[in-house]
Amino acid sequence: MILRPDVSPASLTAPAPLVDPFGRAISYIRVSVTDRCDFRCVYCMSEDMHFLPKRDLLTLEELDRLCSAFVARGTRKIRITGGEPLVRRDIMTLFRSLSRHLDSGALEEVTVTTNGSQLARFATELAACGVKRINVSMDTLDPAKFRSITRWGDLDRVMQGLDAAQAAGLAIKINAVALKGFNEDEAPRMIEWAHGRGMDITFIEVMPLGEIEDARVDQYLPLSQLRAQLLDRFTLDDIDYQTGGPARYVRVKETGGRLGFITPLTHNFCEGCNRVRVTCTGTLYMCLGQEDAADLRAPLRASESNGPLFEAMEEAIARKPKGHDFVIDRTTRGPAVGRHMSVTGG
Ligand code: SAM
Ligand code: SF4
Repeated sequence: MILRPDVSPASLTAPAPLVDPFGRAISYIRVSVTDRCDFRCVYCMSEDMHFLPKRDLLTLEELDRLCSAFVARGTRKIRITGGEPLVRRDIMTLFRSLSRHLDSGALEEVTVTTNGSQLARFATELAACGVKRINVSMDTLDPAKFRSITRWGDLDRVMQGLDAAQAAGLAIKINAVALKGFNEDEAPRMIEWAHGRGMDITFIEVMPLGEIEDARVDQYLPLSQLRAQLLDRFTLDDIDYQTGGPARYVRVKETGGRLGFITPLTHNFCEGCNRVRVTCTGTLYMCLGQEDAADLRAPLRASESNGPLFEAMEEAIARKPKGHDFVIDRTTRGPAVGRHMSVTGG
């Protein structure tokens, strides 16, 4: 068969997909729509957080335009995150407008990462906007421990949110940060609980992002250790399942459910990185674990045409680093990057 270069009119006019210097095509953006949150998880935020002034935020229309510009340049998947995305006022407007890209087939998926506190209110509408899968963060099944880790979260409310999401037909993955001395003993119960409800569950290593009250080293539980502990109880079969994210999955033989491990510390997964992160002020972070960023708000506002914006996106992607270099140990002082996870979203 002779392979001809694609010279269709569409290929001549469509802007090229974004590809970084390491040949990684950028097909996934995570959009943090607010840095605010109704919880203060101890590993994510300090108790006394300073949030961005509202005037610095992109409007929902601007966020839609920014997302659409990425879609035009090859983004196939958008995750809406935060802070807590569902506390941003009128956030459903953004989900509704993004759904046109799902309808047209330009986007494969719009997903959301949430703490679940507002899910009971929004689950049906999210499903109506074409969202099919959501991640809900939950580090414990014990209401008192939940309150202490989130500083003031109500587990009951999150449980009601999960019920509403499942009733609306949303597939759920539970995300739990593995925390030394906090939830390692609870992990088997959490796995049985999640799988018993037909949900996937993923454990995440804590990352050194932003100043917090506790020492990271006291929180950090390597997942190699958790996995070894789980083997006393479960048979874990490696599987090929991929969601486009950094999690590696196993099937738990005893429950039949899927269990994921996200290991930014013990196993760096940057080689296949297909994503960038945009904050609610239009700052583009090319890597979760590096400080370098590009301002997309100025070019977005400078012109109604997407030309200057595309140029800024191209320049930024040309600087996407090979990967992060997180370290958590007793000798490394301070976080890898100064901003908290709530700025760029998980
Ligand atoms: N508020 C939403 C939530 O909690 O799901 C979305 C934003 S939150 C920053 C996204 C994810 O990042 C959550 O699963 C949270 O547990 C995780 N996270 C926050 N800080 C982290 C850290 N320092 N290391 C690892 N994961 C972290
Ligand atoms: Fe809020 Fe999510 Fe951070 Fe917890 S992890 S404080 S819920 S943004």
